[in-house]
Amino acid sequence: MAFVIPAWTQPALPVAGSADQFPVRRIFCVGRNYVEHQKEMGGDGRETPFFFIKSAHALVPGGGSIHYPLKTANCHYETEMVVAIARGGRRIAAAQANEHIFGYGIGFDMTRRDLQQHGKDHGRPWDFGKDFDESAPCSELQPAAKIGHPSKGAIWLKVNGKERQRADLSDMIWSAPEQIAFLSEYYTLEPGDLIYSGTPAGVGPVNPGDQMHAGVDGVAEIRVSIAPAL
Ligand code: MN
Repeated sequence: MAFVIPAWTQPALPVAGSADQFPVRRIFCVGRNYVEHQKEMGGDGRETPFFFIKSAHALVPGGGSIHYPLKTANCHYETEMVVAIARGGRRIAAAQANEHIFGYGIGFDMTRRDLQQHGKDHGRPWDFGKDFDESAPCSELQPAAKIGHPSKGAIWLKVNGKERQRADLSDMIWSAPEQIAFLSEYYTLEPGDLIYSGTPAGVGPVNPGDQMHAGVDGVAEIRVSIAPAL
């Protein structure tokens, strides 16, 4: 069998300390998973988190340079720990969820905040605000077999050397296992799925020329610079 157009490369992330890659299937993102971020987005800090989805096509493996996105005047960073699923399933219990995780990284849920707001104001989907070219940079993955399952530790971001976000993983409303339990009630999770586990407070805009440097202590770091729009 031949494809009638050229097939594209399987989206994948590098694995730390290895020449191997982790193939990426889908990208689930949790919204408003830190109380202080809920508040800065206009909530009361007591909402239940929720999910949206980005295409694997949006992945930028390892970070590097991304273009300022099209059709926005307010592109925001959101720094997030990323959870990589090795073993799928449905109705996974939180107590067993760690057994489904391959490893962890750090990524940016880049957001066209103005388009997201337009969607909210008109009761329309968030896709144009969230799922666009180069909107999901992600670091190499650290296998859980090496680092365990981080449930606390600093998550931070500097833009042009200045700290913009800092929180602790223990501030997450839903832990990684709880996110897997919730998601797997609605979807059959599959090997290769990623979960962006939510951003702390301090989200803000970036512009061409800006340099972002983020990390989860003990897990991974990522550097991304913003190039002019295409
Ligand atoms: Mn986010």
